[in-house]
Amino acid sequence: MSTETKWIIETQDLNRVYGDGEQIHALDQVNLHISAGELVAVMGPSGSGKSTLLNVIGALDRPTSGKVYIDGQDLAKIRNKDKFRARTVGFVFQLHNLLPTLSALENVEVPMMGHIAPWARRKRAKELLELVGLAARMKHLPSQLSGGQRQRVAVARALANNPPLVLADEPTGNLDTSAGNDLMSLLHELNRSQGTTFVVVTHDLNVARQTRRVVVMADGKIVREDCIGSPIEEDLKVWSNSELGRRVIEKDIDSLSALGISREQMESIHEIFDQNLSESLPEHDD
Ligand code: ADP
Ligand code: MG
Repeated sequence: MSTETKWIIETQDLNRVYGDGEQIHALDQVNLHISAGELVAVMGPSGSGKSTLLNVIGALDRPTSGKVYIDGQDLAKIRNKDKFRARTVGFVFQLHNLLPTLSALENVEVPMMGHIAPWARRKRAKELLELVGLAARMKHLPSQLSGGQRQRVAVARALANNPPLVLADEPTGNLDTSAGNDLMSLLHELNRSQGTTFVVVTHDLNVARQTRRVVVMADGKIVREDCIGSPIEEDLKVWSNSELGRRVIEKDIDSLSALGISREQMESIHEIFDQNLSESLPEHDD
C-alpha cells in the first residue's frame, strides 16, 4: 500500500457482533479499502452483513471492534457524528425515506437546514434536481412521482451537502430493471462528473456489473473482490469460457452453421469484438 493512496474508506479488522447469548457475527474481520472516486458494488446473500457494513462505515452503527477511517478520520474519535454524517456521507436506502408531505425540492433541502441560508439551499436543491433529471418535477410530492423518480430525489438529497462519499443500500431493490438501470447510469454520471465515491449494495448482478469493482460478502466476511472490465470485456470473458463463444472466437464456421449461425452473423459479432477490445481477448489453451 502506497502512503500516497487516498483511501476514502479504510476498515481494519472490523467486527460487529449482535446478541448476548447466541452471537451473530454480522461483520467478521472485515478489511476493506476503497479509494476516493471509486464506484464499488457490494453483493452477497441476504444476512451476509452488507447493510451492517454500510451502517458502520456511515457511522449509523458502531463496530464491536476494529477501526473505520473515513477520509483519513478515525470514526471512533469523531465526537459529533451528526455533523460528520451531514458533511461526509450521503445515504440512499432501498426505501427512499422521503418525507411524504414535502415536495421533491423541500426533501432535497432538508439535509441543508440549519447551516445553509434558505435562499442558498433552495438554489442548491434546484441545481441538484436538475442534475438528476427532475427539473420538471420539483414541486411534486413523493406520492406523485414514480419509484425511479423518488430514488432520484433520494440521490439528490444524498448529495445535498456535497459529501465525498455516498452509501446506497439496495437503491434499485424496489425498481424494475429499466428504472434500476437508469438509476445506475445516474450514479455513474455523478461519479464521473462530481467525483463522488459510491458504495452500492445490490442483489442485482446487472447492476453490479456496471461498476468497476464488486466486493462479495458471505457470513460477515469479504469472500471475494473482483475488478470488472467494461461490460463487453466481461461478455468476452464469459464467451471465451463457453463452447459456442469459443467457436465464434475461432471463426469455426462449419460447426457454427450447424448451429444455424450464418457467416454474416459471425462476422458481425467479430466486428463488435474488433471495435471494442480484441486485444483483451483472453487466451485459452486447448
Ligand atoms: P444483509 O444486509 O447482507 O442482508 P445485515 O447486515 O442486515 O445483512 O445482517 C447481517 C446479520 O446480522 C444477519 O444475520 C442479521 O440477522 C443480523 N442483524 C442485523 N441487524 C441486527 C440487529 N439489530 N440485531 C440483531 N441481529 C442483527
Ligand atoms: Mg441489507
